[in-house]
Amino acid sequence: MMGSDYSAIGRMLLLLQLLPGILAWGKEGHYAICKIAEGLLNEEAAGAVKVLLPEYADGELAAVCSWADEIRFHYHWSGPLHYIDTPDFRCNYKYCRDCHDSSGRKDRCVTGAVYNYSEQLITYQDTVSKLKYNLTEALLFLSHFIGDVHQPLHVGFTGDEGGNTILVHWYRRKSNLHHVWDTMIIESALKTFYNSDLSVMIQAIQANISDGWSSDISSWENCASGYAACPNPYASESISLACKFAYRNATSGSILEDDYFLSRWPVVEKRLAQGGIRLAATLNRIFTYQPAVSDV
Ligand SMILES: [Zn+2]
Repeated sequence: MMGSDYSAIGRMLLLLQLLPGILAWGKEGHYAICKIAEGLLNEEAAGAVKVLLPEYADGELAAVCSWADEIRFHYHWSGPLHYIDTPDFRCNYKYCRDCHDSSGRKDRCVTGAVYNYSEQLITYQDTVSKLKYNLTEALLFLSHFIGDVHQPLHVGFTGDEGGNTILVHWYRRKSNLHHVWDTMIIESALKTFYNSDLSVMIQAIQANISDGWSSDISSWENCASGYAACPNPYASESISLACKFAYRNATSGSILEDDYFLSRWPVVEKRLAQGGIRLAATLNRIFTYQPAVSDV
C-alpha cells in the first residue's frame, strides 16, 4: 500500500512539474525573481542561503522557488498563504481586514506568511531557538511568497478569486485572467522579445534595474527600521495595479490580444524586478539582523 501511495504522489508531483504555472506566478516568474535576488545578496545572506538550500537545488535558490506550489496539495494548509482576497471593487488592502483564510483564521494570507517565515529565519543566528523550525522550508516559502505578493492578482477581489473565475481568451487560447497574469503574459513576452530564452529575459530586467530603475531601488528596498520584512506596501501596490491594469478591459468572455499584452508586459516586468530586489533586501536584513541589547 505504502509503495503505491508514494508512487501516486510521485506521479502527481511529476504532473505538476509538467504543467508549469498552474497555481501562482508561473515557474518562469518565480525563477526570474529568485535569480535577480541571488545576484544581490550580501555575504551573510548568500552564506546562509547556501547552508539552508536543499542539496538538489545545487546551490541555486532560483531552482527551488516554485517548491511551494509543487507541495501545495501535499501541504494542504499552505494553500491560503499564496494570496490575499480583498473586498470587491474597493481596490485597497488592509492587513487587519484582509489577512485571513476563508474560514476567518487571522494571519493566514500571503503577507502574514512573509512575516511568519521572516521571523523564523531570523532565528538562524540562534542555535537554540532555530531548532524549533525547519529553516530550509522557511527559506523556500519566503522566497516564493515575496514573489506571489508582487503578482497583482494575488491581491485581487474575493468575488472572482483573484481573476480565477474570469474566463478569457489569451489570443486563441482559453484561459482565465489569473492565469494570464501568472503565466501567459510572461510566456508571450519570452516568445516575442527574448527568443524564448528565460536567461535573456532576466538579463534584460537586470539591465533595466541598473539603468532605468536605478534611482527607484532604494525606495523599493525601504522597510521601517527594526523590521526585516515589509510586505504590506507590496500588497497595496498589487491591488492597485490589479484595478488599474489587470481587471481593466478584461471581463468574462474578453479576447485579450496585442493591445492588452503590450500595455501590461511593462507592468509585469517591473513587478518581477521589484520582487527580486525586495527578496534580496529582505534576506540581507534577516541574515545580518542583530538583536537589540534589550531583546537578548
Ligand atoms: Zn504561489
